[in-house]
Amino acid sequence: MKDDGKARPTFPARLPVAPRSVAVRAPQARVSQPARALVQPLARPAVKPAVVLRPTAPGGLGMDSSAVRAAMVRKIQAQGVSHAGVLAALQAVERHRFVDSALVNQAYEDTSLPIGLGQTISKPGVVARMIELLCAGHGGKLGRVLEIGTGCGYQAAVLAQVAHEVYSIERLRGLHEKARENLRAFRVSNLHLLFGDGMLGYPRGAPYAAIIAAAGGNDIPQAWIDQLAVGGRLVAPAVTAAGKQNLVVVDKTATGTVRTELEAVFFVPLKSGIA
Ligand code: SAH
Repeated sequence: MKDDGKARPTFPARLPVAPRSVAVRAPQARVSQPARALVQPLARPAVKPAVVLRPTAPGGLGMDSSAVRAAMVRKIQAQGVSHAGVLAALQAVERHRFVDSALVNQAYEDTSLPIGLGQTISKPGVVARMIELLCAGHGGKLGRVLEIGTGCGYQAAVLAQVAHEVYSIERLRGLHEKARENLRAFRVSNLHLLFGDGMLGYPRGAPYAAIIAAAGGNDIPQAWIDQLAVGGRLVAPAVTAAGKQNLVVVDKTATGTVRTELEAVFFVPLKSGIA
């Protein structure tokens, strides 16, 4: 993959005007200050998050989840993810809060799980891999990030740990509402949930330092490239010439784009329109 070693630009942490749109409903689930929750001692020292992102109300696993989450993070580290900020974000976000109660015991396995409406929460290893790709060559936090495919909101919560501002868009109203519900108690002020067709991107927030998609189409929509900042990076699953779905990285430069195809992946399809 091309890596010119240049740090990507940062962008204003906030839009000058509060987002408002006819086609895309701006979020109510904006959660203010990151929860000032306790940092749990880890079973073995792994990557220590600045804060544990968890709601004030108890729920989910009937146990302290930080140790089992630390084990998940170690496995992901062993798969080759090394970015400290990404690992800390995975340690911080309580994934079991984003899955149905019947699946809570599988929340820290490196597997995708059903979240309703035929969709899945992404594998944490793939979430980590993609966010590490977004952060590559970037010292501090990312600027403004657009996520296509909020789903249950897990990846959005992880992104909110490594970026100054995150816009996440979902085309299925039921999942948009579910993500809002899941995230309500976390109080993450830099995450904005949008209901709309992410194939169009979200022009009001452009340009983005990074764009990430959790659903794969035949192509990368031109709107995403247009809304990416010069120096920005996009990571998305897309069908390649071989007819398989692979991770695709697009770097936008002053003179054009550089596309890199990486490993095969299995994401739900990117669809147009809302439902
Ligand atoms: N990041 C999510 C993964 C959800 S699965 C998580 O952590 O749970 C991918 C999601 O992409 C699905 O919810 C699907 O409805 C959504 N999706 C597919 N096409 C879309 C589009 N055009 N715009 C917005 N969301 C889309």
